[in-house]
Amino acid sequence: MIDRTVEGRGPGLSTDDLGFLFEDRHAELAERVRRVVRALLALEASGKGDDDLARATVALLGEAGLCRLFAPEQGVDPSAPQRGVDLRALCLVREALAWASGGADSLFAVQGLGTWPIVAFGSEAQKAKWLPDALAGRAVAAFGLTEPEAGTDVASLRTVAVRDGAGWRLSGQKTFISNAPVADRIVVFANAAPERGRKGITAFIVPRGAPGLSVRADLPLVADHSIGSLSLDGCEVSDDDRLGEVGDGFRVAMSTLDTFRVTVGAAAVGMARRALEEAVRRTTVRKQFGKEIAEFQQVQGYLADSSAELDAARLLVLRAARLRDFGASSITQEAAVAKMFATEAAQRIIDRSLQLHGGLGVVRGVAVERLYREIRALRIYEGTTEIQRVVIASRLIATEKQRGDS
Ligand SMILES: Cc1cc2nc3c(=O)[nH]c(=O)nc-3n(C[C@H](O)[C@H](O)[C@H](O)COP(=O)(O)OP(=O)(O)OC[C@H]3O[C@@H](n4cnc5c(N)ncnc54)[C@H](O)[C@@H]3O)c2cc1C
Repeated sequence: MIDRTVEGRGPGLSTDDLGFLFEDRHAELAERVRRVVRALLALEASGKGDDDLARATVALLGEAGLCRLFAPEQGVDPSAPQRGVDLRALCLVREALAWASGGADSLFAVQGLGTWPIVAFGSEAQKAKWLPDALAGRAVAAFGLTEPEAGTDVASLRTVAVRDGAGWRLSGQKTFISNAPVADRIVVFANAAPERGRKGITAFIVPRGAPGLSVRADLPLVADHSIGSLSLDGCEVSDDDRLGEVGDGFRVAMSTLDTFRVTVGAAAVGMARRALEEAVRRTTVRKQFGKEIAEFQQVQGYLADSSAELDAARLLVLRAARLRDFGASSITQEAAVAKMFATEAAQRIIDRSLQLHGGLGVVRGVAVERLYREIRALRIYEGTTEIQRVVIASRLIATEKQRGDS
């Protein structure tokens, strides 16, 4: 049973309520994204299989011009590569996509994770070779960092890159690689000088079908999400497809994740917004004891708490994004606060909304049931909540120590 109660209205995405945080171009983008969401919902209802749907979704997002947001027209400042991207625009897109479909949101985000490193660190030849198809949605991108033994501690990755004539051979395992089952090429991180630790990590662009690369769709998750594992068995990569210098890989990876981390918070806001809209709708039509359940004060308390948390989450996300858009040299602290608060708050908001649906809330196909499953991974990927806490607290402590020293 598919519950489409608020779906027909489309995402209540607007820049009006927070106009002071946006520019005119964002209002135009919000309107465009609302149209894309309608097309996306029609595509999802078309009954395509998982991989075909994933490719068609990326194509739709590319045709709508949304993937172009990964490659800012004014270019990227090589000394601060995170600058240049319109982060508030990326947040608006993820908020709207996640409102409609966690799977589509993830496809968009990972298209960015696998494309942005080429925009920011690629040579002109690499940009000419790889970007046109990625930005048009004709090629699906992925980002291969995590390994079975290197999750939160990514610098300990064990995949190695060994020089072989004019090229390289990569050997190792990657896991939890989103988009892997459908990716046309993957930015893979491997260590070309293991004795130098993280300073040996190097990024490579590995095309689908590269000799020695095998991809498995072996990770069924709680919610729809294109994901899989990679085996690299002496995988052949040309030196032309080395991204950045040998040893630059850790910087490439961290700078990409720093750029996109805030947008995870935006996706959480989109899911939470959808859940709250569903709850308001349900509690104003469902009657018990002869009246709408929205008339009970406990129900109103849930709605009010969720509304306040949603506003707070959105403001924190947009604070971090706007700071970056206006040239802040670092938003590490603000991005960590935004990602942690928004994903944790969204989990609470969705849980309350499900509770307000009663038994209907746990029926497969009802929107809050889907959201309940979809939100969970956002508290884990691109830095778990615990790691955001480490980042936030360690900066507070370091600042205090600096004050003490001076
Ligand atoms: C849906 C999904 C999509 C993903 N997509 C990608 C992708 O496209 N590309 C990619 O490279 N990776 C991807 N990942 C991997 C993701 O980045 C990792 O799962 C994440 O970094 C956590 O690593 P782990 O799963 O190995 O957990 P672990 O590192 O084993 O952590 C387990 C627990 O220990 C805690 N912990 C670890 N270290 C500390 C510490 N120092 N202090 C406090 N607590 C700590 C963690 O917070 C967590 O609660 C994805 C993961 C998921 C779930």
